[in-house]
Amino acid sequence: MTKLTRAWAEGSTPRAKIWADVPDEQWNDWRWQLSHRVNDLAVLQSFINLTEEEIAGISAPNKFRLDITPYFASLIDPDDPRCPVRQQVIPKARELAAFDSMMADSLAEDRDSPVPGLVHRYPDRVLMLVTTQCASYCRYCTRSRIVGDSTATFSRSEYELQLDYLRRTPQVRDVLLSGGDPLTLAPRLLEYLLSELRKIEHIEIIRIGSRVPVFMPQRVTDELVDMLAKYHPLWLNIHVNHPKEITPELYRACDKLTRAGIPLGNQSVLLAGINDSVHIQRELVQKLVQMRVRPYYLYQCDLVAGAGHFRTTVSKGIEIIEGLRGHTSGYAVPTYVVDAPGGGGKIPVSPQYLISQSPGHVVLRNYEGFITSYTEPTDYDPNAIKPLEEKAAKRPEPGQAGVFQLLEGKELFIKPQGFETIHRRNAIEHRLNRDKKKWIPYKKNGTATPVPAESADSAS
Ligand code: SF4
Repeated sequence: MTKLTRAWAEGSTPRAKIWADVPDEQWNDWRWQLSHRVNDLAVLQSFINLTEEEIAGISAPNKFRLDITPYFASLIDPDDPRCPVRQQVIPKARELAAFDSMMADSLAEDRDSPVPGLVHRYPDRVLMLVTTQCASYCRYCTRSRIVGDSTATFSRSEYELQLDYLRRTPQVRDVLLSGGDPLTLAPRLLEYLLSELRKIEHIEIIRIGSRVPVFMPQRVTDELVDMLAKYHPLWLNIHVNHPKEITPELYRACDKLTRAGIPLGNQSVLLAGINDSVHIQRELVQKLVQMRVRPYYLYQCDLVAGAGHFRTTVSKGIEIIEGLRGHTSGYAVPTYVVDAPGGGGKIPVSPQYLISQSPGHVVLRNYEGFITSYTEPTDYDPNAIKPLEEKAAKRPEPGQAGVFQLLEGKELFIKPQGFETIHRRNAIEHRLNRDKKKWIPYKKNGTATPVPAESADSAS
């Protein structure tokens, strides 16, 4: 063990003064933590010196749900409004301010759901929303359109619709349970969903996205971990944004999970005034890997209502990755992504390391500014792998081949929507445009790409 992990293994987080006398047995019971969450101005004021703006935010009638577990509330610095824990869970009046491009469902998840709560955006994996409830509520929540609203949560019949869709969709090999927070579900219901998913033979891995270990590590009991381990291969992503959230209790919860063979990742959101600093991010990721949690994604904050004041520029995210990649272990460097507004999915963004190319040479730079040239082989045969490739398992993944289909030589172009119509310019049929065959690319060993129908304006 390192000095730090030993301290985590043996330590405990001091409680806020209002819970100083709660017996350990209650404090360490996740049901007690859930039923004693704070959301009331007077209670919050009894242990935090709130600012005028926080008081206005807490008092606003139409705000996103406010609830904080006593454990997480105890991490708040009562005298510092800039405390990174405090800013994540205490509302401010400014979260009600509208901003350009703000949307209720900026990732168009509800549009890309074949049945309620099941987002099928990528070819081989789905996002399964199983609850709208969380242990505490993050002010920048991407799903604030439904999260926190108990009347919007998913019904038994909607779970059955989700499971039915998965049973009849063999291309799905990976299911991510999220919400809300799946680990707030009643234990029996959570196990029912996991056991039904495990019965579907084409589902290879189950993933859970949860902030419960961070908000309420008491929930990570031996019984929960034993139950989860019955449904391997099962992966879990936690959500830590700042090193202050890494506590002895979180360490012990993660230790239990990893000992049960559950690989852990971390997703964090880049938040202005909270973690938009290379130095803070470096401390965060280095502490995460000491807990055996792999930093997985660093998200650009979404264009979602309530999150305007948390947003940074994208260049800040690139700067942070520049300050991590090469400067610390590769295991500690997350992928920085912009989740595409409008529903395009995660787009990785990174500093540029490729400087130039010529036939035979690739010029690259490293994190220090060292510039090197990689000499490419002149006798590389990309077809030598073909016999082995033929034997590799292939899954049906209709559509969505993207730029990869251009690299494979299956298509010669991808056209944006409306391309044909715009370029046709209401043309009359004439002697130069009558012969459609002139736009069919020649293919030596295969079928030529057909000319799309005049009316087909979609990507080819
Ligand atoms: S834990 Fe996740 S789903 Fe829940 S409020 Fe926070 S960001 Fe939203």
